[in-house]
Amino acid sequence: MGMDNLSGQASKDSRDRMISWLRSNEAKDILIDLQRLLISHQALGPENGGDGEYEKAEALKAWLRDQGIEDIQSINAVDSRVSRKIRPNFFIKVTSNPAQPILWVMSHLDVVPPGDGWASDPFSLKIEGNKLIGRGSEDNHQGLCASILVLLALKKFKPLRESGYGILCVADEEVSNQYGILHVLEHENPFGPQDAALVPDGGSPDGGDIELAEKAVLWLKFRVQGVQTHASRPDLGKNSTTSSSALILKLRELYDQFPQTNELFTPVYSTFEATRREENIPNINTVPGEDIFYMDCRILPEVELNQVLFRVDELVTKVEQDYECRIFVEIVDRVEASSTDGAHPLLKFLQREVEEVCKVKPRLIGIGGSTVAAYLRQHGIPAVVWAKLTEQAHQPNEYSLVENTFADAEVILRTLLSYSLK
Ligand SMILES: [Zn+2]
Repeated sequence: MGMDNLSGQASKDSRDRMISWLRSNEAKDILIDLQRLLISHQALGPENGGDGEYEKAEALKAWLRDQGIEDIQSINAVDSRVSRKIRPNFFIKVTSNPAQPILWVMSHLDVVPPGDGWASDPFSLKIEGNKLIGRGSEDNHQGLCASILVLLALKKFKPLRESGYGILCVADEEVSNQYGILHVLEHENPFGPQDAALVPDGGSPDGGDIELAEKAVLWLKFRVQGVQTHASRPDLGKNSTTSSSALILKLRELYDQFPQTNELFTPVYSTFEATRREENIPNINTVPGEDIFYMDCRILPEVELNQVLFRVDELVTKVEQDYECRIFVEIVDRVEASSTDGAHPLLKFLQREVEEVCKVKPRLIGIGGSTVAAYLRQHGIPAVVWAKLTEQAHQPNEYSLVENTFADAEVILRTLLSYSLK
């Protein structure tokens, strides 16, 4: 009894010391130093005209080693398009007990191109009061810096091996994830069966939004074939634009066929929208023989994707009969819905700490898809997306607020202490 009380008191003291250190001037200096380093390295994927994340990752690893963080494990992906041929992914995991559940924080190293409208050099940190300005400062350096501040606080005040904490840095989030989290999950997946992940790459200004579910994404291409003819003799052909328009309207019936609702999402129902339409013929006086359009569907987790495809087929057949045309359907993209159980301990602790630190009633939400968290969930890893953000991602003059980074770090630390010691 006496011993328990003593160690309980000691851990409460170290917890309080860690929390107050996370808001100290020393922590702020470290944050600014780290943001300056991260912003100065342009980590653009080759699709965005860049040379990848290699130099940035190396600079960050060297910085971490200077802070006494030695045990950094790489899971590099090979990419012949960049000069170093490597897209870097790496992790730091601290625990001594293999059975201990690990709370991971996953951030990405890459950024999007700066675009126009910057008042300062996007790749050089500018400080304006509590705003740290530069490309990547909020997306995703804020989450990355918060996770590193927590690591440093643990190292300073607590035996690291007791922590059950992991930091994962990935490449290629802004483009395909193929050289980033997908590579990690398919090669040297560091996640254990009890682990969970926080992805600080989405959120709201008051910190209240906690995203735990995503709708499925289904992109379909419809190629409608009729018979081309002169517009003055429609009787000799089959107007594919008319058939294709009839199909677009017919597909609206999907809304009635899948009326399920789920209050996590906005809107609460699945959506089935015709979107892009390709140009058919350049002139006005020809009845087009072929018409192509696309549909974007966002489907609730409780709806079977195959059931949707089956219904689409039925509607297509009906229009083929009514309009005497041929219709070819192609799946352009398909990402399954994913959700983390609202009763998972991570969510329980995270909600409590968000309420405590951000003074806001947490809101569990689902989104229309799809973030990197979906890939984690598809691999059986409970994952939530949360951060306190001004929503600067991809904008010119992107900035991150020092107090938001501190709030993220404090929530991560407090959630971690509950999670790994639960
Ligand atoms: Zn991001």
